[in-house]
Amino acid sequence: MDYQALLEQIHDQLRPVIGQGQVANYIPELAGVSPQHFGMAVVQLDGTVHAVGDARVPFSIQSISKLFTLVMALQCEGDALWQRVGREPSGNPFNSLVQLERESGIPRNPFINAGALVLADVLCTRYAVPETAVVDLTRKLAGHEDIHYNRRVAKSERDTAHRNAAMAYFIKSFGNLRNPVPQVLDAYCRHCAIEMNCVDLARAVTLLAHHGVLPRTGERLLSLGAAKRINALMLTCGTYDAAGDFAFSVGLPAKSGVGGGIVALVPGECGVCVWSPGLAPSGNSLAGSLALEHFTTLTGRSIF
Ligand code: GLN
Repeated sequence: MDYQALLEQIHDQLRPVIGQGQVANYIPELAGVSPQHFGMAVVQLDGTVHAVGDARVPFSIQSISKLFTLVMALQCEGDALWQRVGREPSGNPFNSLVQLERESGIPRNPFINAGALVLADVLCTRYAVPETAVVDLTRKLAGHEDIHYNRRVAKSERDTAHRNAAMAYFIKSFGNLRNPVPQVLDAYCRHCAIEMNCVDLARAVTLLAHHGVLPRTGERLLSLGAAKRINALMLTCGTYDAAGDFAFSVGLPAKSGVGGGIVALVPGECGVCVWSPGLAPSGNSLAGSLALEHFTTLTGRSIF
């Protein structure tokens, strides 16, 4: 498969769409990002990198961090985690509060904000500085040290995190947060503010394409079962309330963020990441979703 030629073809096909959609502006620091960016990278399990456009420009990973915090929370808690977080698609926007009332403070899945607040709480219990632990994991997965969280973005989100705060206090009222809410929110906002580029992220998810073994070193970081569960959750819950449509049109496990990034993986083969900040109403990158749809159509690679 000539991935480089394929990425260039996808980039060309998408030029008319790049810039469309709405940049996330409810986090003030993200409102100024140009919607004209587009980058895409494929990293194969043997480490070969293919990249186009802005694939090496760092961006705010936002909800893609939920993937990394899930890896760590599963490492900490194992299957006991599922007593505190469900694994059903929510059928509601990622920041919705309504289900929490009906379902007694047990978030539907780890990839909505409510679920990721519980993950952040698990990490606050386990680590003195959870954001450092999460950054360390991203460095290990990406294979280099130059990954950080953006303090300005973290502060900007934290200062305006009224809805996430409401959710966290609500979850706490049901006894499903162990740590003080402000501490959990600080950690959550810092996880979301981590900056990585498409090549870093595509390489990071080769862990999941390789069933829990880091391809670069051969080290097993997740059991086979845990890797399978994370991939399943990415397929069913990874792209917000559009996960059904995403499975229909793309057919790969994927996780998106409101920074405009989407990571996906082809099991046994490669990690993929696309970034374009203009979002569709679902919160998924508009050009990014189309790029992944072209990717699976042109390669014939999907999990189906
Ligand atoms: N930091 C964002 C929030 O909590 C993450 C949302 C997202 O990327 N879907 O609202």
